[in-house]
Amino acid sequence: MRVGFVGLGIMGKPMARNLLRAGYAVTVHNRSRPSVEELVAVGAADGGSPRGVAERSEVVITMLPDTPDVEQVTFGPDGLAEGLRPGSVLVDMSTISPAATRSIAARLAQRGVDMLDAPVSGGQRGAEEGTLSIMVGGDPQVFQRVRPIFEVLGKNVVHIGPVGSGQVCKACNQVVVALTIQAVAEALVLAERSGADPARVRRALLGGFAGSRILEVHGQRMLDGNHQPGFRARLHHKDLRIALETARSAGVPLLGTALVHELLGALVARGWGDLDHSALVRLVADLAGAGSGALSP
Ligand code: NAP
Repeated sequence: MRVGFVGLGIMGKPMARNLLRAGYAVTVHNRSRPSVEELVAVGAADGGSPRGVAERSEVVITMLPDTPDVEQVTFGPDGLAEGLRPGSVLVDMSTISPAATRSIAARLAQRGVDMLDAPVSGGQRGAEEGTLSIMVGGDPQVFQRVRPIFEVLGKNVVHIGPVGSGQVCKACNQVVVALTIQAVAEALVLAERSGADPARVRRALLGGFAGSRILEVHGQRMLDGNHQPGFRARLHHKDLRIALETARSAGVPLLGTALVHELLGALVARGWGDLDHSALVRLVADLAGAGSGALSP
């Protein structure tokens, strides 16, 4: 199966590399050149444009920042839609709006092209190690066709339901992650400002009911003051916007999500949008007037 890949950033580049390692013929495209050249050096073909990628592929994967990027790459000039043949499949693994996903899928269906939404969780490390969690929406038969590709990229591959439901699942994921990061940030700043060593507090909490992957990984990042992405705060801000829009149309009030959405917006407004989302701790520490220590802004 010939695979195309558009969007070679923190996530897309290692994912495309894993497909090459697994023996797939992969044609790539990205807005900036360096990541294209890196992948061509390890065996990828350069598609030159989204259309060029689509013309050479039976399955095209997109891994782009936001909804307008996926719409532009798919339907813009020299877009995927101009090159995708009937029977081919677009697999969007970006995190975008479920409603927009359904409408992109409907437009592609008119051309005989199938679409799966297959957003992921597991971060840069999961992308590099091929251990992502992949949440898939779309036709079950199309899912089965593409499944071998998903199994190269991830370990936990779950078909959620019809097209768009992968993105709904991802919105749920991002709610849990954002609120947990905020909780970990508040706990560690509380510890520090109350005279308890936050590193020891983290260690104690990890063995009890408050233990989580986020306390483990992002708690350590917070202690180290290491906010290199990882996952950019601006992208998580976008994800909570999607969760809130989705919740609004379902009539579900998401109070905690709305709060952390605003805090991520404040992080972006301070010029920290390209820091890792664990940098939420900087705001919590700043609000506490913390003047020293690893948790300070
Ligand atoms: P990223 O590092 O910003 O990468 C996005 C890539 O898309 C960049 O290489 C960018 O090119 C390229 N791009 C943007 N617009 C384009 C266009 N019109 N045509 C071609 N290429 C274009 O983002 P990321 O962290 O990989 O995230 C990608 C998606 O995965 C997002 O939806 C994000 O929410 C989701 N996600 C990320 C993580 C994570 O931990 N990072 C985890 C799960 C899900 P340039 O090189 O020119 O910028």
